[in-house]
Amino acid sequence: MSVVMKRHVVSPQSTARGAVKTVTELEASGLVPEKSGLAAVAEKYAIGITPDILALIDPSDADDPIARQFVPTAAELITTPEERADPIGDLAHAPVEGIVHRYPDRVLLKAVHVCPVYCRFCFRREMVGPQGLGTLTPTQLDAAIGYIAEHSEIWEVILTGGDPLVLSPRRLRDLMERLAGIEHVRIVRFHTRVPVVEPERIDDAMVSALTASGKTTYVAVHANHPREFTPSARLAFRRLFEGGVALLSQSVLLKGVNDDVETLAALMRGFVENRIKPYYLHHPDLAPGTGHFRVTIEQGQALVTALRGRISGLCQPTYVLDIPGGHGKADIGAASIVGQDGCFTVRDWQGGEHEYRSGNGIPT
Ligand code: SF4
Repeated sequence: MSVVMKRHVVSPQSTARGAVKTVTELEASGLVPEKSGLAAVAEKYAIGITPDILALIDPSDADDPIARQFVPTAAELITTPEERADPIGDLAHAPVEGIVHRYPDRVLLKAVHVCPVYCRFCFRREMVGPQGLGTLTPTQLDAAIGYIAEHSEIWEVILTGGDPLVLSPRRLRDLMERLAGIEHVRIVRFHTRVPVVEPERIDDAMVSALTASGKTTYVAVHANHPREFTPSARLAFRRLFEGGVALLSQSVLLKGVNDDVETLAALMRGFVENRIKPYYLHHPDLAPGTGHFRVTIEQGQALVTALRGRISGLCQPTYVLDIPGGHGKADIGAASIVGQDGCFTVRDWQGGEHEYRSGNGIPT
């Protein structure tokens, strides 16, 4: 399956020297065997590993959780009937190119479909990469900004993609200035992997480009394993925070990467220690060739329940499923309260059940 509407090819992806982008470079790096047989995977899905991520991979560990996120495998050629090219249904809510308007008060603005790394579980893997949907043309960007300006109910603009922080500070500054000129837009949120995978991009020019007078900027940092909090990544987080950017997390629950309570606890604590409020823990989407990453919802619920008992409330993410077909996110954390007519059973983190009667306790 492939997504239609291909745009032109662009190259604002990783500029880092030593990044791995081809099977030949992967084989030369020693991360996969010579004659790896990965050409068929590379034809379908982009490859990208930055030097910072290469340095994090332990080549002696066949199950290294960092390698698992970024090094392609033949398992990606296996697709199952429930998987789909557009798993979260972006295209069902795209009034103009580059905009996804799924909820009334906010839109996604997908200005660019390239990333410094290509995650093997990516939910937009059919759209991102050098052969993906590219970058909006100036005319398309004008139309997307025009759509936001015309819809006064849009309070928040979420820049995602792709990774918007592959754009230069100059282009990001232009974009922010245009959004800052729209009175009803109050919040601009960037979803990015850059502070972790290419942290040197987060310099003064970048931080300044992300902020605009009168608007509040959030950056949602995508990280999935506590080893991703390197000293360089921590410095990038600090620069953003000190530059006036509020920080949120987003992670994907991934088999073989973070599907155990110790790793998840360390990940969430790591976010909080870096002034990043845990926000979303995503159930993995039904992207093609990603079945080897998927846990069951029951496993995910058990993990978030265990987290509740183990770590501070500050560290708790919301476990969410993007309902296939474009129906939006649902909180799928373990149902801790059931009942009706004012009588509820509340389940604590150890599985104990407790009666709770709502209202003021006065019989009616
Ligand atoms: S950074 Fe995000 S959009 Fe890019 S490949 Fe990873 S999950 Fe996909």
